Amino acid sequence: MKPYRLLTVSIALAMLVAPALAQDKVVNLYSARHYDTDEALYANFTKATGIKVNRIEAGDDALLERIRNEGANSPADVLLIVDAARLATAEKAGLFAPVKSKVLQARIPAEYRDPDGMWFGFSSRARVIVYDEKRVKPEDVQTYQDLAAPKNRGRVCTRPGSHPYMLSLVSAMVEHLGEQQAEAWARGVVANFARPPRGGDTDQIRGVGTGECGVALTNSYYLVRLMRSKKAEDQAAVQAVGMVWPNQKDTGTHMNISGGGLAHNAPNRENAIRFLEYLASDEAQAYFANGNNEWPVVRSAAVNNPELASLGNFKPDALNVGLLAKNLPAAQRIVDRVGWK
Ligand code: FE
Repeated sequence: MKPYRLLTVSIALAMLVAPALAQDKVVNLYSARHYDTDEALYANFTKATGIKVNRIEAGDDALLERIRNEGANSPADVLLIVDAARLATAEKAGLFAPVKSKVLQARIPAEYRDPDGMWFGFSSRARVIVYDEKRVKPEDVQTYQDLAAPKNRGRVCTRPGSHPYMLSLVSAMVEHLGEQQAEAWARGVVANFARPPRGGDTDQIRGVGTGECGVALTNSYYLVRLMRSKKAEDQAAVQAVGMVWPNQKDTGTHMNISGGGLAHNAPNRENAIRFLEYLASDEAQAYFANGNNEWPVVRSAAVNNPELASLGNFKPDALNVGLLAKNLPAAQRIVDRVGWK
């Protein structure tokens, strides 16, 4: 073969291959997750598909800020964040593009995904009540409503009301009770505070552990994380607290999700959808949920997490988590009005 022909062939090959490479070999993942088990999750995806996962990790709000600033030039293909309130905020800001996927629709229950395919829940968490076993009777703290009752005056600890976890719960209360009654409830919770809201959910569990708080709200995985901890102080906190699945006789326990979707300007769209579908596979679901002591949203996925399993079964609120977004403005108004700072 003459040299010039070789060159032509190479160029032709390069032209054929180059666009395919850009599309076939990478997916740019913007993730607020940072768990060791996720490494194995991404490695398995790459092994199965040949698609490399480029990860940008940051906190939820920092990620949203970044992708917003990058605008149309954003290299993000997939955006993974936690809480329905944040997913809704991202959707409202136009950060997601819709995905039509039979796999995702079939595998993820309807209450854990956006009806228009803008985002999908991949793991779920429950907002549970923890109480001081020494001084609070479990029958006094069976419902979210109990936290607003006079019998719990001076006992209640929560994180600040404007945090997405609290806003999502208040949104659910608005959905179940109406805005007026939800506001009365929030006012009652604030009147029952043991201390001004501060810290994260783990701090609320520790507050109950030390006796500063009689009763508190936390996402389930923070409790399981402490259960799995080898530290003496964590074990002491776990020993001191009891846990209640709230509202088992009516609406069920408030649920939330971690999830994600296709980024609005995804340069590697097909890869991104493959990645999202992979996250809904049984194998990925187990890793994804176990990494943060959550439950898989796909019911057939096996969980190998004895501490999580030890929490037992409960009745979850069947509310579509997407509905929480609709009530977010009302929830924010309520926490502002009642001074849930
Ligand atoms: Fe969290």
